[in-house]
Amino acid sequence: MSEEKELLKRYREKRDFKQTSEPSGGKAESAGQRPIFVIQKHQASTLHFDFRLEADGVLKSWAVPKGPSTDPSVKRLAIPTEDHPLEYAGFEGNIPDGQYGAGTVEVWDTGTYRNTKFDGDQEIPPGKSIEDGHITFQLEGKKLKGGYALTRTGRGKEARWLLVKMNDTEANIEYDPVKEQPDSVLTGRSLEEIREGK
Ligand code: MN
Repeated sequence: MSEEKELLKRYREKRDFKQTSEPSGGKAESAGQRPIFVIQKHQASTLHFDFRLEADGVLKSWAVPKGPSTDPSVKRLAIPTEDHPLEYAGFEGNIPDGQYGAGTVEVWDTGTYRNTKFDGDQEIPPGKSIEDGHITFQLEGKKLKGGYALTRTGRGKEARWLLVKMNDTEANIEYDPVKEQPDSVLTGRSLEEIREGK
């Protein structure tokens, strides 16, 4: 099995692709020189934001219950979830009842990112940084820009990550992107409009 196939094993085991319109993966190649990121607003049993960074040919994923902040003093809990295929970055729509993650998915923000983890002048591959439990990066999204860090705390099943905005020119303590910019960057639709298929 290729590495990408092995990485997507958990993703595929959880889903019935005859039932859900989510991508089964394995078709997309990395698009450009810069890796991509996507943040999907997901109304499942609870509302959360799925934060995904391209690394090792897949989207490394975390569920962030409260969504990202632009305030560097705010630490947002990020719970690691299974790797998703690259094609998932363009997925917006409804996951049918009875399927894993049943509910509505909106592409809340997407773009590219720049890895800012270096060992001397040598860039550390993002997948390696994630394995090591600490990655820093610059987002070039439509809503989010500038530096962020994801840091693992705890070990094994207790492992939790924290998503924190870096203190740079894009930081803004008076702004809440989750509240101020709720709609899809792909289609301009609200979560309700996506749910109703408008
Ligand atoms: Mn989710």
